[in-house]
Amino acid sequence: MSTPPPSYQPPAGHPVYAPTPHGYPQPGAAPALVCQVCGAAPAVPVTVRGHQGMIVIMRNLRRQGVFCRTCGLAVFREMQANTMLLGWWSPLSVIITGAVLLMNLGARSALLRLPQPTTWGGRPPLDPGKPLMKRPAGMVALVPLTLLAALVVSAPVLMVVGLLSGDSDPKPLTVGTCARNDGSWSDQDLKAVTCDSTAAQLRVTQPGLEGCEDGEYMADLKYSEDGTTNLCLRPLDR
Ligand SMILES: [Zn+2]
Repeated sequence: MSTPPPSYQPPAGHPVYAPTPHGYPQPGAAPALVCQVCGAAPAVPVTVRGHQGMIVIMRNLRRQGVFCRTCGLAVFREMQANTMLLGWWSPLSVIITGAVLLMNLGARSALLRLPQPTTWGGRPPLDPGKPLMKRPAGMVALVPLTLLAALVVSAPVLMVVGLLSGDSDPKPLTVGTCARNDGSWSDQDLKAVTCDSTAAQLRVTQPGLEGCEDGEYMADLKYSEDGTTNLCLRPLDR
């Protein structure tokens, strides 16, 4: 059984192969990667991202490497915790931080698919520390994360509600034009029509100091140009 010479060091940037029980990997066999921190196997290449928002400027962080489950989890938790604390502090950062935290879950699941290190690498692994939600960073992030989740969930709901309610934003009426009312006077549904059409029922008039004249109706404020001006509606004589 052959063993690598003790002085063997792979060239920088070259993947590191773990010796198998039969010596070096067999030709054609998938190379077994080892953790770049502790040297243990199995390990996977992962990219963990981070983000810092600093009011005006922002900073994106990235750590790429081959890690065993233990060291990878430590890198993931450190980046995730720092992002949870420092990620939120500019308007655009709120969105980026949400995306970064979500993307890192991909790296985390790749690491969790690995079994515990089976080959001791000779160097101490990193300490993964406490789970994120048992750290202060997890509690801090809970508020923006909850708000972000609420936003993501509510946006399509609000869009559907807006589509269903339809005419939530009626066309404004202007003085001198004509309209018809398809609703009642307590629940108006006013539409602008040309004054010489047979559909015209009402002429839009400016209220006097005393309000609308006798026989005139008051249009809902939402039918005025700015939403706050009173308009009167005089029935047309036909
Ligand atoms: Zn490791």
